[in-house]
Amino acid sequence: MAYAYDDQNIFAKILRGEIPNTTVLETDHTLAFRDIHPQAPDHILVIPKGRYVSHDHFALEATEAEVLDFMRVTGRICAELGVQPGLGGQGFRIISNAGVHGVQEVPHYHLHILAGRPLGRMLAPA
Ligand code: AMP
Repeated sequence: MAYAYDDQNIFAKILRGEIPNTTVLETDHTLAFRDIHPQAPDHILVIPKGRYVSHDHFALEATEAEVLDFMRVTGRICAELGVQPGLGGQGFRIISNAGVHGVQEVPHYHLHILAGRPLGRMLAPA
């Protein structure tokens, strides 16, 4: 069964240049930009340029070049933010919401990188 991808989702429109974004970093395969409703002083979204719905889709079907590029971009952003715990930074959190239970709003795979304040426990009580 093939993954269904909605070309009208908002991140697809950003990738096509139909909606503006505040780009932090762009490579051949990946775009990183600031979240429009930041939940922390630094709230960056990292998305592949390919048509992937969610983490599982990307992890299973993306090319090695896409996966490598995506991962390196996340590291470069952490470095640019100066939040790497192994280098004296204050740390960060990476989240990827998927599907209904994950409360994913935009059906184009993305990671949230949150930093700049203490982020509390991982999950609020249900
Ligand atoms: P999720 O619930 O993981 O799908 O998160 C989607 C995120 O996209 C939310 O944090 C929104 O604030 C963010 N978002 C929605 N539209 C835009 C936009 N045009 N530019 C930047 N971020 C956006």
